[in-house]
Amino acid sequence: MLTMEDYLRVREDFNPFVQNGGKRSEDHTILELGEISAEEQKFHVPGHGHNANGAVRPGVYMNTLTPRQMESLTTLCNTFVPQLDVPSCVAADEATAKFYRTSASMTGAPEQLGGLISERMEHPKLRLMKLTLWLLSTWIGTFILCGMKSMSREFPYFRSFPQLPHKRREEIIMSWSNSAILQLRMFASAMKLLALLIFFTMVDEKDDNPSWKAIGYCGPDPEFKKQLRRLTLPTTPSPIPSPPRPPPSQHFIYHQDIFGPLHPGLIQMSTPRDAVANSLQRLGFPVSICPLKDNPTLMPFPSLSIQGDAVVVGSGSGGGLVAGVMAKAGYRVLVLEKGSYCARTNLSLLEGPSMDQMYLQGGLLATANMGTLVLAGSTVGGGSAINWSASIRTPQHVINEWSNVYGLELFDSKLYADALDVVCKRMGVQSEISKEGFHNAVLRKGCNELGYPV
Ligand SMILES: Cc1cc2nc3c(=O)[nH]c(=O)nc-3n(C[C@H](O)[C@H](O)[C@H](O)COP(=O)(O)OP(=O)(O)OC[C@H]3O[C@@H](n4cnc5c(N)ncnc54)[C@H](O)[C@@H]3O)c2cc1C
Repeated sequence: MLTMEDYLRVREDFNPFVQNGGKRSEDHTILELGEISAEEQKFHVPGHGHNANGAVRPGVYMNTLTPRQMESLTTLCNTFVPQLDVPSCVAADEATAKFYRTSASMTGAPEQLGGLISERMEHPKLRLMKLTLWLLSTWIGTFILCGMKSMSREFPYFRSFPQLPHKRREEIIMSWSNSAILQLRMFASAMKLLALLIFFTMVDEKDDNPSWKAIGYCGPDPEFKKQLRRLTLPTTPSPIPSPPRPPPSQHFIYHQDIFGPLHPGLIQMSTPRDAVANSLQRLGFPVSICPLKDNPTLMPFPSLSIQGDAVVVGSGSGGGLVAGVMAKAGYRVLVLEKGSYCARTNLSLLEGPSMDQMYLQGGLLATANMGTLVLAGSTVGGGSAINWSASIRTPQHVINEWSNVYGLELFDSKLYADALDVVCKRMGVQSEISKEGFHNAVLRKGCNELGYPV
């Protein structure tokens, strides 16, 4: 959406909130908004697509991998999720039998993964990954990467990865996982993670996944789904009859129910410049449109000059709070958020599409060595919109460490304790639970058995 670093300049480097002791400033921060990159928009435009519930579905990605790369990718996916015969010892119901018989390629997982690799993944080793996929489609590349395991006793003696029998491919991937060569270990773990992630989270047109019944997952919470359907827009295609339109006095509440409480203050930066300027003006930000010829040399394509008191970049737990406090104190605050806004009614309630829509890089952001997946929210609300809200007051031993060891005395002050009170009250932080979630119950049981205090 906004490519901040390239196009944004905030002039006048004073902080009105601090300098004026919380009083409204007569001066302004001038924000020059340059060309807006619609690069990420194609994945996030609300209304881009809807699922069976009428909820927003993220975009479909264009797969630009070559046929050779796709051949290797498909074989790799099928090595992790092969088509299997149902073992006679398993009293399989229909769903379980189907699960056994379904390989990754039968669900279209490799194509979907190809699209994600092509358009969504950003990683310094992405080129290497694509090169490896290509190499595996050739016999010589397979020999280099897999060694003697890629050879056959029969003609042709050298085989490409897709030509190898399933068992041999499994052995090769196992050997990569334990290899002394970091890049092979990285490739094996990345492929495993991606193939399984896509296989278990992708959904068909009916929002179903062939593995869910077999593994005992019921899909999106049916109760919450019902609540959302009641709020579906009358014009949105939905199998459930739309609710009657409320009387005009209730329009505002109804509108917010559907589009979310923040909708009135949102401006989509992909809309035409004039429309952005009008919306900003309607919200109380004086705006001037700079003709391109008046372009200062520093800015490549400045288009809007906006007057406000503060600009907050990012609407997560940190930025959202700062913006909220300042706005409440009377400042005109502009919050720049690169993610999209997902109102409750726009939630698909499906892990795969939601991750794609609400997580930074669609949840595919990994460390340089691909050892750790970095999960972070990238949506209005940032991490607070997707996190689990497990909240505790800062423990005293942590406060002591921050204050005594690192000299951060603020944390041992009454000011900080009071701030914690406010946050805890606002969020309803408490340790009483009426029903413990399954994964917490498992964690608690494990800790108890290991003798850890819980
Ligand atoms: C899955 C998950 C579960 C979690 N569970 C818990 C929990 O139970 N309890 C807990 O205390 N914490 C939890 N956390 C951690 C918590 O959510 C984060 O620590 C917190 O949100 C960080 O706040 P922040 O403001 O620093 O950044 P974020 O909340 O990550 O917000 C940053 C925002 O800035 C936007 N942004 C970034 N760069 C730009 C740019 N250049 N231009 C415009 N916008 C930009 C991003 O899109 C994002 O929306 C969890 C995190 C995750 C990912």
